[in-house]
Amino acid sequence: MDKRTELEKLGEFGLIDKLAENIKIHHASTVKGIGDDCAVIDAGEKYMLVTTDTLVENIHFNLMYSPLKHLGYKSAVVNFSDIYAMNGDVRQIVVSIAVSNRFSIEAIEEIYDGIKKACELYQVDLVGGDTTSSTGGLIITITAIGEVAKDEIVYRAGGAEKELLVVSGNLGAAFMGLQILERERQIYLENPSVQPALEGVDYILERQLKPEARKDVVHFLKTLDVKPTSMIDISDGLASEILHLCKAGDLGCTIYDEKIPIDQETFSNAREFNLDPTTCALNGGEDYELLFSIKQSDYDKIKDSEHLKVIGHYTDKNSGANIVARDGSVVALKAQGWNHFSAE
Ligand code: ADP
Ligand code: MG
Repeated sequence: MDKRTELEKLGEFGLIDKLAENIKIHHASTVKGIGDDCAVIDAGEKYMLVTTDTLVENIHFNLMYSPLKHLGYKSAVVNFSDIYAMNGDVRQIVVSIAVSNRFSIEAIEEIYDGIKKACELYQVDLVGGDTTSSTGGLIITITAIGEVAKDEIVYRAGGAEKELLVVSGNLGAAFMGLQILERERQIYLENPSVQPALEGVDYILERQLKPEARKDVVHFLKTLDVKPTSMIDISDGLASEILHLCKAGDLGCTIYDEKIPIDQETFSNAREFNLDPTTCALNGGEDYELLFSIKQSDYDKIKDSEHLKVIGHYTDKNSGANIVARDGSVVALKAQGWNHFSAE
């Protein structure tokens, strides 16, 4: 009988590693294939960057609380984020949607309004796509194309021991926004006449429903004359992304709990949910912030920036990836992240 291995045995990253085995590269223009935030293609004077992401109804969003316009906006922005993670700039996108007859033309136009808004704001051209029907939920797949000067590109690999690990913005907010939305959805399902309690949570809801990608940070670092030595965007949670950087760079790291930037609204809502704010920041995901390393000699250039926070440094590989808790104890970092394939 044919062998059958359950998806949950490998998890998402194990599956990608398996699919990536024995892929033959035929062209010298393929500079980097699977394994970074974007594929890198030699386009002559510059490198071209390519990335794709899919949002699936009831896996990545719930139409009970995701406004269609925000959903369109988010599906574009999550792709932009991977281009910025290579220190590049986004140029074009193609958009594929699968919809059922549950959706009206107006509803699909709403999604496109959001996509167009993101394109306007980030200065990106929508140049194509595909439209198909779906028997079930809504699926949006966007592929983004970007470019970067050859000497400006930053990979996940490239860091070195003692270099500083820096994050932009703050973490865990989108995850807390999702907890609020899920709580209100449950309440609504039990009693549709109850009004949702959404006061004082605007920031974390926006981080969940309408995130931004850190084009500004890429630009800001250029003005400071700081080129990251390695970089990734934070889509699956800080812990998971740090482990990706360490693996790619053949390094270990030490980060400090007390240095992880967490917004006040995230913090107070985590407490209300009896969640540890640090755990939300480490494992929440969907932050779309940038995580990168810089040389120690660049520290003075970034130290006064309110957008950037040094959270630790790279160490040698044998020390592993660790977090120093507030009481001084050292714990190995684990990526809980999301496992799409785990059995419920
Ligand atoms: P990100 O979180 O930055 O979007 P992913 O974790 O989705 O990155 O993917 C990691 C790497 O694996 C990327 O280089 C991506 O292109 C590649 N990858 C993901 N899924 C597949 C697939 N089904 N086939 C080939 N490559 C894939
Ligand atoms: Mg990424």
